Amino acid sequence: MTRGVAVEATGIRRAFGPKVVLAGLSFVAAPGEFVAVVGRSGSGKSTFLRLLAGLDRPSAGEVRIAGTPLLGVCPVARVVFQDGRLLPWLRVGPNVALGLSGDARGRANEMLARVGLADRTNDWPAVLSGGQRQRVALARALAGEPRLLLLDEPLGSLDALTRIEMQRLIEDLWLAGRFTTVLITHDVDEAVTLADRVILTAAGRVAGEWPVAISRPRRRDHPDFGRLARTI
Ligand code: ADP
Ligand code: MG
Repeated sequence: MTRGVAVEATGIRRAFGPKVVLAGLSFVAAPGEFVAVVGRSGSGKSTFLRLLAGLDRPSAGEVRIAGTPLLGVCPVARVVFQDGRLLPWLRVGPNVALGLSGDARGRANEMLARVGLADRTNDWPAVLSGGQRQRVALARALAGEPRLLLLDEPLGSLDALTRIEMQRLIEDLWLAGRFTTVLITHDVDEAVTLADRVILTAAGRVAGEWPVAISRPRRRDHPDFGRLARTI
């Protein structure tokens, strides 16, 4: 069972003035699938993710979520950005609870516990490390009970060891929630570690696509990885 939705983008074009960033990109993700998108800096990955979230409109083409054309902000999607985008004037707990109704507030603490930060509810974002801030950003995204999780280089500014730790967390959360996940990353190793399928974008289109899970065990299943992880 998955709570994930099918995502389909067909012939997506997005230009900013004369600059064509996406030139007829087509993409599908099955419900509950974990897809990574890799591509060079400036190749339009963030632009694409914003279109999937409904934060921007394509100049041509269509995004469908669960078979329905996306016309406004996607209500079942949550995005995590590289810089977390926590509100500095709110403590950690209220940051996670942001936008939740009264009934759902309890979920904020539950989600903080899930990312290992149950004891940081009353801290200010500024006193957290970069990795902790991204944990809070993940908790906030999950508190919205997304059926589509969009990750825009969420680990891009973290050190290598924290990144490995966070990769394991993201995988655990995905295994538990089975929401459809699209991870943007320029780290090919990270893409291969986490995703079922890796897509390469170039010149505003999909330039290649590789299945991962069926041909290669997940890294966390590798005995050496467990050993390494325990030493961190
Ligand atoms: P990536 O995430 O792959 O690094 P982006 O999607 O952020 O790439 O950007 C792709 C290109 O589109 C870049 O050249 C960027 O300058 C341009 N771009 C993105 N957003 C805008 C915008 N709102 N206005 C003008 N140009 C933009
Ligand atoms: Mg980007």
